Amino acid sequence: MNWITRWKKIGIKVKKIFKTREKIDPSASLWINCSSCGKLNYKDTLKETDWICSACQYYFDKPPLAIVNTFFPNEKTFIEPPTNSGNDDPLNFKTELGSYKDKLAKARKKEKQWCSILGYKGIVENLKVHLVVSNFKFLGGSWGLNESFYFQKIVSDAIENSADVIVLILKTGGVSMFNGTAGLNSVMAGGIVGMQRLKEKNILTVAVGQSKTTGGVLASIFYASEIVILEKGAHDITFAGKKISKNYLAAGESMSDSFGSADEKLAGGLADLVLPRSEIKPTICTLAKIIKKKEDLAGIEEKLDDSKNTIREVLPKTAEKI
Ligand SMILES: [Zn+2]
Repeated sequence: MNWITRWKKIGIKVKKIFKTREKIDPSASLWINCSSCGKLNYKDTLKETDWICSACQYYFDKPPLAIVNTFFPNEKTFIEPPTNSGNDDPLNFKTELGSYKDKLAKARKKEKQWCSILGYKGIVENLKVHLVVSNFKFLGGSWGLNESFYFQKIVSDAIENSADVIVLILKTGGVSMFNGTAGLNSVMAGGIVGMQRLKEKNILTVAVGQSKTTGGVLASIFYASEIVILEKGAHDITFAGKKISKNYLAAGESMSDSFGSADEKLAGGLADLVLPRSEIKPTICTLAKIIKKKEDLAGIEEKLDDSKNTIREVLPKTAEKI
């Protein structure tokens, strides 16, 4: 056995140890540690604070179904994903740690959904809304052929039902490497075509970025949206991670501490609004009602109370663009 073979064997053993450790599922705990201030938050009480740390206002991941219920507290319809298109594993991807098929099967069983996105539709404040929500726990919220085909189905459904607005609430590691070029093309090129189909039918497209919205999904569908909103305090909104991005700095340049933050994106013109979680839905509805001419500006302004200052600030800008 030469030294290369020996190191490879050691590497495999280390990976197996880590794989065993993964079996201790942190999501089973009743408590969650705030990664900003360290406070232990009881998971059952997070619902009352909208998954925001009560000590420091850090935003925890809000579960996808909780996001859906915020948008549609009453009636809603689930848009079924196309489960018969045979796009699970075109590359038959395997490593020494197991196959992609197994990873996918485990994610489906644990998260009880077909792929990393969910599609719903319903009526909100007299608006026909289609909603796409990421589940980051499903393989890092990555998009491959399954997500791409599902997204196209949601787009077609929005067009057939003359939707007013499609809202994408995303948190994603980007395009899945397990689908290779086919995944890249279907998510990025196909995604842009889908967004264009919506725009041709005058359906307003709104993207909402949570922390860790990255890669090919950020660079295509997300930024092809007409209105781009980021959650307050969101971080890691980047095409590539900090380590890779640092390689592209010119001599003498340094990376700002705010790199990839919501505020940096807003200052650089790569976001229209940065909003607290509680203001996202009302702001989208208000803007959509004006743009879709469901209600006039004066009527909306009359109803706004003092807590809706952000909406009040963007109303004139929105009205100018109509
Ligand atoms: Zn905290």
